[in-house]
Parts: sequence; C-alpha cells; structure tokens
Amino acid sequence: MGNAVKAPATLMEALQYFSDPLTCVQFFAALRWENGEAQCPRCRSKHTSFLSTRLMWKCLDCEKQFSIKVGTIFEDSAISLDKWLCAMFLIANCKNGVSSYEIARDVKVTQKSAWFMLQRIRHAMHTGTFNKLSGQIEADETFIGGKARNMHSDKRADKIRGRGPEGKAIVMGVLERGGEVRATVVPTRRKGDVQSHVREHVLAGSAIFTDALKSYEGLDEFQHEVIDHAVEYVRGEVHTNGMENFWSLLKRGLHGTYVSVEPFHLFRYIDEQAFRFNKRHTTDADRFVQLCSNVAGRRLTWNQLTGKNDVERLANGAASVVEPF
Ligand SMILES: [Zn+2]
Repeated sequence: MGNAVKAPATLMEALQYFSDPLTCVQFFAALRWENGEAQCPRCRSKHTSFLSTRLMWKCLDCEKQFSIKVGTIFEDSAISLDKWLCAMFLIANCKNGVSSYEIARDVKVTQKSAWFMLQRIRHAMHTGTFNKLSGQIEADETFIGGKARNMHSDKRADKIRGRGPEGKAIVMGVLERGGEVRATVVPTRRKGDVQSHVREHVLAGSAIFTDALKSYEGLDEFQHEVIDHAVEYVRGEVHTNGMENFWSLLKRGLHGTYVSVEPFHLFRYIDEQAFRFNKRHTTDADRFVQLCSNVAGRRLTWNQLTGKNDVERLANGAASVVEPF
C-alpha cells in the first residue's frame, strides 16, 4: 500500500510538504482510497466530484458532501490535516516516544489537543493481525509501573493473588527473532493468561524460549526450551534477550519521555513502542506511510476510542482488535 505515494523523509520536509492543505488532502487520499479515487462513506459510490474550494467531495449519487477525515481517527477533530500528518511523522519516527508537550510545541497546538492527537495516533498504531509468528520465538512477561519494593512481600503478594506486585501492570510479550513483537497488558501471570497470549500469536510447532516461570509449563504443541535465570541467562540459542531488549525500550520510553502513564492508557504506549519496533528495518518515510495507511483503513470515532471499546480491550487483556473500514 502507498507505493505510489511520495512521502517526506525528514520532519523538516514533512513540515514544508504538508504546509499546503491541498497537498495534505491529495497525499492522504492516495493512501486511503484505491488509486486515490474518493469513495462516498455513506453509499460507497465512487461517482464523486471534488470541490477544490472546500477541499471536500460531493457524492453524485446520494448528493452528500464528505471530507477526507470521515471514517478515520481524524473524523470529529477540528485540527487541520497538516498538523495531524506532522504529528504522525514525529511519533512514527521518534526513538523512544514523544510527549504531548513536544507535539504541542512542534505542531503548534495546545498541550491538551496534542494529548488527544497522540492517543488517537497510538490507537492507529495498534496492529491487529491474523498472521501468527513462527520460527524462533521468545516469550516473556514484565512488570510496569510502581516503585521497586520489598522483594519478599512482593513475592508473597504474587503468590497469594497469583498476580504481579500491587500497583504494577503485567505486560506479556512474544517476539519472533528477526521479526515482530506482540505485547499486551494481561490481568495476571497465571498459566491461562500467559499461555493464551502465546497461543493467540504463535504458530504451533514453533520453537519457544522462556524463563523458568511455572506458568509456561504445558506449552506442549511447541518446541519449548527453558532458561532458568537462577542458573544462567544464555544457553546457546536458548535465551530471552530479544524480549528483554524490547522491555528496556518500552521502559525507557515510559520513564524517560512520558511523565506518567495511567494504567488505563498503558496498552497504548505498548502499541506505540511495538509499532516502531516492528518497523525498525524500514525508513522513516516508509514507517510514516504505514502509519498513515493504518489511520486510513480504520473507522474510529472519538467515542469509540475513549469509551466502551477500551474498557473491553483492557478487560480481555487488550487482545488484538481489527476494525475494518
Ligand atoms: Zn453517496
């Protein structure tokens, strides 16, 4: 997707390129619609005419007018497309993360607007996919948030509740070596939560490397090898260093760039970090185009974004959700 679209390669180029409103609309239309040909969101007709003075289309069948924003994460936003696209360029290509303060300054919106923009863009970064990972897989879980506390009481609490130390969220991830990571918030470290994440994202028969946590016992349809961190960290190809690397990226972003993250919003930051990580082998321009394609292919309203869907996603461990347009 987006092969024909020439995307800016740097932020400076993006700012310049998107300073023209018509260019913004054309750029996004080319990504969003086949051959850049507008389609009426109401009746699906491609029989339209472009109103260049309003930068909108008129459907010649149902006679409604529509903008490029309808049916995307921009839908009910008064913020202009050039600001959206520049914010997306920033967030697609920053190393660890970008704060709403930085977006506010660079894109020239209020901090509050920047925060809303970021949350929506992160939502677009969530990659719902049906393709399972395969080959050599590392599976691991980590705690996010809270302060380091007394180990003994943490462990005791862990045992009593079967979950992480109080005040910390548990994030579960699987990584295909050389490929993608899939990470999500899980309610507990119990066998059911941990293994269902593995089974959802990893092809049976793959090699799986985990640490010695009991919850990983019984992954019988995989070639499961365990590295006991009490004894050693690496035994040939049996290790979870790739997942550790992803966790440190995630935590660096969370502690360094973002002042604080409410637990409710944690999965968004994970989606954001995973998006950049999974596209680490591509160029800034391509990563940006892929993000734009995600935005264009989804139908999301702000109510859906902030309301029920999030609660549901959180309740079921923020499992993959695909929202086809
Ligand atoms: Zn129509």
